[in-house]
Amino acid sequence: MPISDRNPSAQALAVHGRLFLLDCGEGTQQQMRRAHLSFLKVEAIFISHIHGDHLFGLFGLLNTMAMYGRTAPLYVYGPQALGSVLNFYRSFFADDAAYELVFRQVDCREPQLIHDSKWVTVTAFPLHHKIECYGYRFDEKLTERRLRENPQARAKSYAYCSDTAPFAQLPEWVRGVDLLYHEATYPCAMADKAAARWHSTSEQAARCAAEAGAGRLVIGHYSSRIKDFEALLQECRDVFPQTVAAQDGDVYEI
Ligand SMILES: [Zn+2]
Ligand SMILES: [Zn+2]
Repeated sequence: MPISDRNPSAQALAVHGRLFLLDCGEGTQQQMRRAHLSFLKVEAIFISHIHGDHLFGLFGLLNTMAMYGRTAPLYVYGPQALGSVLNFYRSFFADDAAYELVFRQVDCREPQLIHDSKWVTVTAFPLHHKIECYGYRFDEKLTERRLRENPQARAKSYAYCSDTAPFAQLPEWVRGVDLLYHEATYPCAMADKAAARWHSTSEQAARCAAEAGAGRLVIGHYSSRIKDFEALLQECRDVFPQTVAAQDGDVYEI
């Protein structure tokens, strides 16, 4: 749940001026304003699963886009149940919207390419959570023009693993990403609780990053009972030194 200095899950990935949102918890609009991110530059939204802490900010955001006169279609990806949520929104709140809200259902057991954009491809992969849940991997495309300008240019990558218990294939699916976000809801001492609630501990997040050969790890989604995540961060760094603990409003350059 939100606490005074922490909002639920939401991230914006900026790729050559376009924005891709990952989850949309309560408070997303206000955080976007604070970060000076344009609502109109959002190309697509990727929802991991239908738990409130990952999508209660969606209706407000969709409404604000309509008020700003958005006309470009908006693609919203997520599990089947998200279709019903969006239909509810359309039935009651979308009368004045001049843009098309396009639901794209994610349904896969293995990594699957779901979005092919000018600068980036997006691959969905299933996570292990209490309900159907997906992670998303972004791989930058290198255009011929960019390679001409800079032959040394290298495609960058990012992966978002929201709520999940650890499982064997995950490091393979996020192999080699420059930046990995992985939830770390609990410290090691609460591994039992993490398993019972389909979440990960700090150490499990760090092991995933190490096995995947990720460049850096960002952890987040701390239990609201955890007031000080320095200990959690240290547990990660013992396994994977290139770890940072996300706080609201942080910006990471890939
Ligand atoms: Zn969840
Ligand atoms: Zn959650």
